[in-house]
Amino acid sequence: MRNDFHLEIRRLFALTIACLFIGLLTSNVLVVLLLGSLLYIIWTLFQIRQLENWLRNSRLSSIPDASGIWGNIFDSLSREKKRQLREKKRYKKVINRVETMTASLNDAIILLDADHTITWLNKSSRTMLALKKADVGSPITNLIRNPIFVSYLAQDDHELPLILPSNNNIEQRLEYRINYFGNNEVLLIVRDVTRLYRLEQMRKDFVANVSHELRTPLTVIGGYLETMNDYHSLEESWKKPLEQMQQQAKRMTVLINDLTMLSKLETEELNKAPISVPVRPLLEMIINEARTISDKKEQTVELECTTDFNILGNDRELHSAFSNLIMNAIRYSPAKKNIIVKASHNFTGGADVKVIDKGIGIEQHHIHRLTERFYRVDSSRSIETGGTGLGLAIVKHILVRHDARLNISSRINQGSTFSAIFPKERIEN
Ligand code: ADP
Repeated sequence: MRNDFHLEIRRLFALTIACLFIGLLTSNVLVVLLLGSLLYIIWTLFQIRQLENWLRNSRLSSIPDASGIWGNIFDSLSREKKRQLREKKRYKKVINRVETMTASLNDAIILLDADHTITWLNKSSRTMLALKKADVGSPITNLIRNPIFVSYLAQDDHELPLILPSNNNIEQRLEYRINYFGNNEVLLIVRDVTRLYRLEQMRKDFVANVSHELRTPLTVIGGYLETMNDYHSLEESWKKPLEQMQQQAKRMTVLINDLTMLSKLETEELNKAPISVPVRPLLEMIINEARTISDKKEQTVELECTTDFNILGNDRELHSAFSNLIMNAIRYSPAKKNIIVKASHNFTGGADVKVIDKGIGIEQHHIHRLTERFYRVDSSRSIETGGTGLGLAIVKHILVRHDARLNISSRINQGSTFSAIFPKERIEN
């Protein structure tokens, strides 16, 4: 570059000397110098024009031929252009690969901008959702009009996917997942989950049917065992086995009741018109019912209800959820360790129902699994206290049906607090 610049200076110098020489010879120094400068300007303009032409015409082969600084500028630009072309080819290849990859996917993939307008969609979205290439540029809510999808897209929390029947086929179930990237843009992935949905449905039906079918034989067995136990002339050696059989039959009945309750919660829709359930009388009733067990353990269950409020929902389900929490607190606390049940508004405008015990506590690593079916920290202790391992699964299901959540905090040997947290939409003052 430096050399070319020097060459250009030398060229200008030589032109000036030549002009001076001719000027002296013709005794017209000024005119010849002026003509020389004009010539240089015309030549420079010619080079600029060539450059402009070449820049406009993207063909690499047509690069102008020039020497000196102009040749250097043309060479540098040509090198840059070649590099850009190579990059462009590379990116095109990557884009083609991504496009073929996404086209081979069975899942529908749709990109939306921050206003939920479609910016790109893959082949499967055309077959699965009946979208067209021409739909790019249209708001997704104009094309997928299901109000449940529209409100799901508008909400802030997309941790859980949405499952909806397909518009094309009522039997087909589609799962919608939303992920955010870039500048609040949305990656919408739609999967066909019909097979999984059917399996899940079969599992639910199976559990519901088995629980239902076992109920009658168990009632008969329980009835006979009770009659036999009351039989006066029964041999002494039969008494203990019969008692144990009766105990196990009772345990099975409790288990079947819990399983039936769970499958009902899974399959039946919550009442469309919820009723207003006063919380204080409900908790008082449960505490009264639990008294037979708490009295045996010399425990008191104290109710602290700072303000009265109602929960909009199903009274039977709420009874079952709070009853499970209170019974657990009694069962997993040693004798004489009292329990507190607190019901109060919280700072969000919703309300909390807390069951606080000073019992055995739960190690931190168990806490996130407690609401799984049959998950027990210590199964022998749970069975000993008459637990089925389904109580907290039932609580969680009921709370979810009431748009509420369960918060558990606990310290080993110091006690636990189980809080049912209801949103303000579910609370009536
Ligand atoms: P279970 O019928 O076994 O009590 P749950 O689903 O109600 O089943 O509870 C699951 C497990 O959580 C229990 O087995 C017990 O280990 C633990 N747990 C529940 N509540 C308490 C509590 N208040 N204190 C200590 N552990 C608890």
